Amino acid sequence: MEAKKIRSTFIEFFQSKQHQFVPSSPIVVKNDPTLMFTNAGMNQFKDAFLGNEVAKFSRVANSQKCLRVSGKHNDLEEVGVDTYHHTMFEMLGNWSFGDYFKKEAIAWAWELLTEVYKLDKDRLYVSVFEGDKGDNLGLDQEAYDFWKAIVPEDRIIMGSKKDNFWEMGDTGPCGPCSEIHIDLRSAEERSSIAGKDLVNMDHPQVIEIWNLVFMQFNRLADGSLKELPAKHVDTGMGFERLVRAIQHKYSNYDTDLFQPFIQYLEGKSGKSYGKSEETDIAFRVIVDHIRAISFTIADGQLPSNNKAGYVIRRILRRAVRYGYTFLGFTEPFLYELSPLISENFGEIFPEVQQQQDFIAKVIQEEEASFLRTLDNGLKMLDQIKEELKSKNETVISGKTAFDLYDTYGFPLDLTSLIARENGLSLDEKSFAEEMEKQKSRSRAASESETGDWVLVHEDEGVEFIGYDFLESYSHIIKYRVVKDKKGDKFQLVLDKTPFYAESGGQVGDTGFLVSDSEKISVIDTKKENDLIVHFVEKLPANPEARFSAEVDQVKRHLTMNNHTATHLLQSALKEVLGDHVQQRGSLVNDHVLRFDFSHFSKMTEEEISKVEDIVNAKIRENIPLIEKRNVPIEEAKKMGATALFGEKYGDYVRVITFDPTYSVELCGGTHVPSTAQIGLFKITSEGSVASGVRRIEAITSMEAEKYLKEQESLLKEIQELLKNPKDLKKAVETLLQERNDLKKEIEGLHLEKAAGVKTELLNQFVSGEGVNTLIAKVTLPNADSLKKLAYELKNEVDSAFAILAAEIDGKPQIAVILDEGLVQSKNLNAGQIVRDLAKEIQGGGGGQPFFATAGGKNLAGLDNVVAKAKEMFL
Ligand code: ATP
Ligand code: MG
Repeated sequence: MEAKKIRSTFIEFFQSKQHQFVPSSPIVVKNDPTLMFTNAGMNQFKDAFLGNEVAKFSRVANSQKCLRVSGKHNDLEEVGVDTYHHTMFEMLGNWSFGDYFKKEAIAWAWELLTEVYKLDKDRLYVSVFEGDKGDNLGLDQEAYDFWKAIVPEDRIIMGSKKDNFWEMGDTGPCGPCSEIHIDLRSAEERSSIAGKDLVNMDHPQVIEIWNLVFMQFNRLADGSLKELPAKHVDTGMGFERLVRAIQHKYSNYDTDLFQPFIQYLEGKSGKSYGKSEETDIAFRVIVDHIRAISFTIADGQLPSNNKAGYVIRRILRRAVRYGYTFLGFTEPFLYELSPLISENFGEIFPEVQQQQDFIAKVIQEEEASFLRTLDNGLKMLDQIKEELKSKNETVISGKTAFDLYDTYGFPLDLTSLIARENGLSLDEKSFAEEMEKQKSRSRAASESETGDWVLVHEDEGVEFIGYDFLESYSHIIKYRVVKDKKGDKFQLVLDKTPFYAESGGQVGDTGFLVSDSEKISVIDTKKENDLIVHFVEKLPANPEARFSAEVDQVKRHLTMNNHTATHLLQSALKEVLGDHVQQRGSLVNDHVLRFDFSHFSKMTEEEISKVEDIVNAKIRENIPLIEKRNVPIEEAKKMGATALFGEKYGDYVRVITFDPTYSVELCGGTHVPSTAQIGLFKITSEGSVASGVRRIEAITSMEAEKYLKEQESLLKEIQELLKNPKDLKKAVETLLQERNDLKKEIEGLHLEKAAGVKTELLNQFVSGEGVNTLIAKVTLPNADSLKKLAYELKNEVDSAFAILAAEIDGKPQIAVILDEGLVQSKNLNAGQIVRDLAKEIQGGGGGQPFFATAGGKNLAGLDNVVAKAKEMFL
């Protein structure tokens, strides 16, 4: 069975059991401070499990894009070295939200694997949670009994908390689980050791394929467990491992999910997969990583220097590095795999197909820049080798290796490989220490401790009313304390709030909570999954009171101006630059708007000005806002609404329109009632942020006015400086012209003066035996003219020997020149002489035997130079 068919069979099987198919949520997580990337199918259902939200469907099936390269689940170091852990993988899942529980989950999993996919029952083992004293939990007897009804008891394994108790993170929903493992070894191997003994022993052929989690508890910050109000099922099956089992392959990489990629690399490198462990790992790392990189870029995360962006950059570099060292790829190559990604995964994940060119471009640019880094790193290493050699040492210190890693992104294993090739070794222990030091530095910087929610009022669901109102009477549902280095902060959730939580680039609202006795500042508002969390400076003395929640209206209105202007800008950019313009990021606050978009070249002045003109024309048209809430997503798409990649949209969306023929966008932000309120739009900068991504910064209304006023007053000041000419531009041009003319005139005068000096000097040469000597003090405009004068004297006088003590711009200089012949015949050396004489002016210099100069500090010494020279040579 082909991989595509295996995937669709899974979905259809659960659809036949009344499950609703839902698409994967983006792989890059937004609005969740505890998670950078989706690491399990359950992430998108977290709110349903926590009871913050009522699940839309009680039974769901899906295939979720997951990435396990950071935080609690980090498989990065295994990937490529083994054959069944990936960075990015698909997790197939079936879900029950307060509907069926252990019995059905177990029976259906078995039915699907053995009757639909026809996996050999003799190769399957299942595990059950044995209980844990610390958590005061006993054996999961229910699960045990349901399994016992379908599999022989000797195939049921007792699992410890480590393997059989699933937790999302330090806190949150959790519960016992039952895993299904498969033994994929040959008959021969199976007859020598029983598969049961190899389960959970990291054997590459005896692997876990499916984990059925029975969500029963919520882990609180103090470590205790609290029973969840309703019980849920969360299952996760590694799609790549399932495909391998069904296709009877030795490794995930032998399946049709990875083979096309491996074959491409074989062709390109001239090396074959399966020949040596070293190159095999490289093949696997690359074909694994290209998926992770492509999917995250498609969901809006560009490689960068911090947080999620840095994780992606490191994965990409790992792939490039393996290609460079083991497959001989010294030029960018990863990006060439982009068409294969689109071909193989575009059907189920259309975002990689739609953005194929963009993804390739970003990857190629990153590769090129890392390959330059690699080159530099290699040169650095050469230097380090030389240094060690000169000191007769053979160990590269951990500090050096760490600097290479930290500053140049140079991986440790490469440093170590090169060290070995050169008969050197590496102090890995002290490298690890340096690494740990850095980690604890960054941990200390970011450490904060989030307390549990304290309930104040019964939770009846949170209502956002900020589209229609900027004030409301509200009650606090719950609050919590966040402790960090800077002290305690507080977060609270209201039953009803006009405060907009930061999202879609728009900053969160600020304002006040006012009760009869108190006024508390709200300093920010953010989303945590779907909760609206208000950040406050202190907790109210009486949290149960009724508060008037008041949004800072001025700030909100200015922000709205900028948000609407961003929509107008996006449409104008499409009109001027083309339809390839896609939003890649945005920031909207009360001062500026920043808009990142895909476009491959710098915008010209004309393009920028055209875009400004269009936006300002739309502002003057005073187009009214058409806001539609709860539009079915399909209908919104038919309206031509612009959607963003990597954004999680529900079935019902909000559509913001300013003229149906001009700007229609899916957007949750706040907007002006009609465009004239924006007043004025002005672009203040246009530049590049990453390969293929441009950034525009612009201002509107009051900020734009202020900007123009500043420009105007600058102009006025200039005008006044120039004594208010009628035509300012002409006046400046005239000024520049006059300046040029004067400069030329001065140069001419200098020349004239130098010529005058020269004529005088020519008369002062003293003839001696085979040499004509001149020793003189002169005043000249610059060093060039001194050199020029010296050469001219030499050329015009036979056997000339001249010593010029010059005052140039208030500083002393000496030039000594002599006919080349004299160097030999009179044994004279200009460099020597000048150094001798320079002592008189507290200076130094040098040059060639026939011409040398010196500068100094002591102008008064020039007379001594002349006197000393006369003493020596006359
Ligand atoms: P393992 O012990 O093999 O790392 P796990 O216990 O971390 O697995 P779960 O968190 O239970 O796995 O995830 C559910 C399923 O997802 C697993 O049964 C497995 O099939 C799959 N899976 C987990 N991690 C990976 C990975 N890095 N690459 C591919 N599939 C994975
Ligand atoms: Mg794991």
